[in-house]
Amino acid sequence: VTAKPTVVVVGAGAGGDAVAWGLRKQGFQGSILLIGAESERPYNRPYLSKQLLRQEITTEKTFLRPAQEYERRNIQLLLNRRVVRAHGSDRQLELQSGGRIPWDVLVLATGSEPRWLPDAPRRANVFTLRSLHDGLALQTAVAGAGRVMVVGAGFIGMEVAASARQLGKEVLAVEVAPIPMGRALGEEMGQIYARLHRSRGVDLRTGVSVSRWIESDDRVRAVELSDGTREEVDLILIGIGVSPRVALAEDLGLSLGEGGVRVDEALRAAPDVFCIGDIAAHQHPVYGRPLRVEHWQVAQRQGTGVATSVAGQPEPYREIPWFWSDQYDVNLQYLGNSRDFDETITRGNTEAEKFSIFYRKDGVIQAVLSINDARTGRFSRDLISRRTVVDGRILADPDSDLKGLAASA
Ligand SMILES: Cc1cc2nc3c(=O)[nH]c(=O)nc-3n(C[C@H](O)[C@H](O)[C@H](O)COP(=O)(O)OP(=O)(O)OC[C@H]3O[C@@H](n4cnc5c(N)ncnc54)[C@H](O)[C@@H]3O)c2cc1C
Repeated sequence: VTAKPTVVVVGAGAGGDAVAWGLRKQGFQGSILLIGAESERPYNRPYLSKQLLRQEITTEKTFLRPAQEYERRNIQLLLNRRVVRAHGSDRQLELQSGGRIPWDVLVLATGSEPRWLPDAPRRANVFTLRSLHDGLALQTAVAGAGRVMVVGAGFIGMEVAASARQLGKEVLAVEVAPIPMGRALGEEMGQIYARLHRSRGVDLRTGVSVSRWIESDDRVRAVELSDGTREEVDLILIGIGVSPRVALAEDLGLSLGEGGVRVDEALRAAPDVFCIGDIAAHQHPVYGRPLRVEHWQVAQRQGTGVATSVAGQPEPYREIPWFWSDQYDVNLQYLGNSRDFDETITRGNTEAEKFSIFYRKDGVIQAVLSINDARTGRFSRDLISRRTVVDGRILADPDSDLKGLAASA
């Protein structure tokens, strides 16, 4: 790589934006190209299911930075451009619009595509939610609807359900699994969220799926559920998860795994090729196994991490994954990864919707899930990073001093 290399970032989302800005912050002198398929500059995606959907903020407020800032920092923002192929042999990207772009260092930050239910008809009132474009279309549709249906009770589905309830809409949520958000949060939390939504008026039906879509005039008017009931609805949001966009990684022959692209501790998939965000299955130095996390702050932090590596020397990315979800007045924060645990410890009162759950393995905290209790998560970060063994009784006691414990660990 030359003294002033060209860094090309594919994907102008959470991760991609952070790489470009991180590079300039580190004093990187080479060229930076940030290529995005969407027509808008990078924006805050989590707003789409929350503040933007509820019309609490304008579209302008969703953007991460003023447009002229990119120019000012000499970051070339190529919007409305889709990269259709990556050629590893001559280090070039091919754009859909024609033309090729050479790279010295390549960062793939292409995010995910929402999944579509194979039998769902593509109709004007059937939505998925990923882009600002999707968000604005859904915002208009929800505003004009009386009864909103959500298919799939994952984070996106349940956040949309909550926002629609807050807008005073009737909400029907259908989930094929026995509980909402079970895949991400497990049985106990799934039950808590089911209660939470039902108590706020969501008609949540679990263990059922849509068996028939009843249409007229380019719209789905009603659905028939697998339990035989028929429901009239004004619009449908399909929120059944996402598929990471790994096509460019495949072009380059990068190694795939965990549903994404395998990257080493420094987020490197190959020499001078990095992957971050939703697509990155990162060999995490603290956990000693690959983690792939589909969350905002992880993508941003990984972007900053790659910028540090590119501007200096590749170094392991050690941050503990963290994410949040806001539904009604309930703030969830989740720190770490709990795929591997042998014990849970609850701190606080689950009934009062203010508590944390620690997930431990051999006495070491793997993850902390906090409901309206962000402090506990915050103070646990160092305990997780340092793999400190903490007495379970201390964790369970809401009056114990976790901050002091982390400081002395
Ligand atoms: C509605 C919604 C709400 C969310 N809420 C939360 C939340 O509360 N908390 C949380 O932690 N996370 C949340 N997330 C998840 C979070 O937004 C994502 O995990 C994060 O954006 C991933 O960042 P990324 O950089 O990997 O991809 P993205 O931010 O998705 O950016 C990828 C970009 O790459 C572009 N792109 C893809 N392929 C190409 C190509 N071939 N050529 C050019 N451009 C391309 C895409 O158009 C896209 O703009 C939410 C997501 C959604 C959709």
